[in-house]
Amino acid sequence: AVERYASIRDLPATDKSGATVALHMNAGLMADLPSLPSSGAEGVGLFRTELQFLVRNQVPRRGELAALYSRVLDAAQGKRVAFRTLDIGSDKVLPYMKRQDEPNPAMGWRAIRVGLDKAGVMRMQLQALIRASCGRPLSVMFPFVAQLSEFTEARDHLMRELDREDRLGHTLPESVEVGAMLETPSLAYAPQKFFELADFISIGGNDLKQFFFAADRENERVRNRYDCLNVSFLSFLEWIAMRCDATETPVSFCGEDAGRPLEAACFSAIGLRALSMRPASIGAVKSLLRRIDLSDLRKVIEKARADGEQSVRARAEAWLLDNTD
Ligand code: PEP
Ligand code: MG
Repeated sequence: AVERYASIRDLPATDKSGATVALHMNAGLMADLPSLPSSGAEGVGLFRTELQFLVRNQVPRRGELAALYSRVLDAAQGKRVAFRTLDIGSDKVLPYMKRQDEPNPAMGWRAIRVGLDKAGVMRMQLQALIRASCGRPLSVMFPFVAQLSEFTEARDHLMRELDREDRLGHTLPESVEVGAMLETPSLAYAPQKFFELADFISIGGNDLKQFFFAADRENERVRNRYDCLNVSFLSFLEWIAMRCDATETPVSFCGEDAGRPLEAACFSAIGLRALSMRPASIGAVKSLLRRIDLSDLRKVIEKARADGEQSVRARAEAWLLDNTD
């Protein structure tokens, strides 16, 4: 797939009207980093840090993590890497963590909830990220933030660790960006202060869709029942894009759906102008975006909605067939 799109690799994902969509890649291992130059991604929009915790049989040490994050930043050669702090619980269970017997793990003690309640591990991870950044920009995001106070508490931890590292005489990052993953519908209705405080927002579409439709992403029987191009979900995404625009907070969409060209085009058309996906998907998404006019696709979406369609998929697909060569 990478070779097929080699000719557009270094070109931007600019549509026919001149609108540009930023395409980033998702990663989780050092082995993913060589895809950064070969895929044409602008940066790593989501670095899932839990894999390093899942492959070991004990909590990794701060020094090991700092060395790894530093190698990731070296390999990124100045491109932005958004590190997501540990997202465990639910489908990602650490072998050395006492298993919580929860009736609904996806809605249970997971991600930032664990991070805030047992802050030791999160603080150690933040220290490792600060040390790895050393004179370079640092971008951190917290997973599964459901309300403003969770974001401010997590952000305060980072600020305290920055102070501490400074007092200890370590070189601080050149700049620090703190973001939140928007994965629960509640956060879309948070006070404006949340959107002002967040340096960026990343929509975790896999979880957001699961909670929007109340359909378990792990349950084969229901996971594909609801289309991500359902007009309700698209309206919701549009609302999130509007709220972020109101405070000029950069927003990106980083669920699996962003890696499919039709979906990527529809998300871009309703105002999400940054997407993060598997590196192998970037070429195909870019190729489609460069061949269409997003404002025309937006009209197709609005018409489908006005006509009472449940999903815009059929209309958008038909339009794409007629409007690309
Ligand atoms: C998501 O929820 O969309 C996401 C990007 O995170 P994960 O798939 O790791 O939960
Ligand atoms: Mg998620």
